[in-house]
Amino acid sequence: MTKELFRIDPYMKYFDAKVLQIEKNIVVLDQTCFFPQGGGQVGDIGNLSGIKVVNSLKEGDLIQHILESESNFTLNQIVHGQIDWDRRYKIMRLHSAAHLVYYVMQEVFGSSCKPSSSGLLDDKKDRSDYLFNEPLDRQKLIAVEEKVNKLILDSLPISHEKFNNEDRITWRISLFAPMECGGTHVKNTKEIGKINIKRGSKPGRGRERIEISLSE
Ligand SMILES: [Zn+2]
Repeated sequence: MTKELFRIDPYMKYFDAKVLQIEKNIVVLDQTCFFPQGGGQVGDIGNLSGIKVVNSLKEGDLIQHILESESNFTLNQIVHGQIDWDRRYKIMRLHSAAHLVYYVMQEVFGSSCKPSSSGLLDDKKDRSDYLFNEPLDRQKLIAVEEKVNKLILDSLPISHEKFNNEDRITWRISLFAPMECGGTHVKNTKEIGKINIKRGSKPGRGRERIEISLSE
């Protein structure tokens, strides 16, 4: 299996690891800090010993590094991995912001206003579809943005803990109830910086698309 270093420390940018499997341009290592595509989040990119990694995928308990081209790596060789940290850090900031938005959406629009799917997240924006049983009030959405930006400035700590010693990670932002999530979060809301929230194209009846981007 591949040990998921991003669960131990989401801020880890590089690591050394042993090659477990090679198939054409796909390389599996014994450990990695490349976050694999899943739950709507894009896979990390970066490089393995100088060869570009263009995507990361999860396959059972293994993480596959998709290289730009075939490598001359050999089994059991130690390689040096490095993720595109600028990109990943933006994803961590946006993902953490999306949790705050979720809480505030429920406060402002009511508890029936829940995400209807896992959404999409890359380094440009977080896109989530919410269930709505009434037309979206734009003034209320502006209030959500203001409230989230205020919470960000409150410098609330975000912590992680393992749930029941299993491989389930629970994170918590002080003030809010803990939530189970395997994603990567920043340590403090202040790292998110100012965000913008806008309404995206309508995804369907009874739903609204909410898009979050970083404004700085
Ligand atoms: Zn999360």
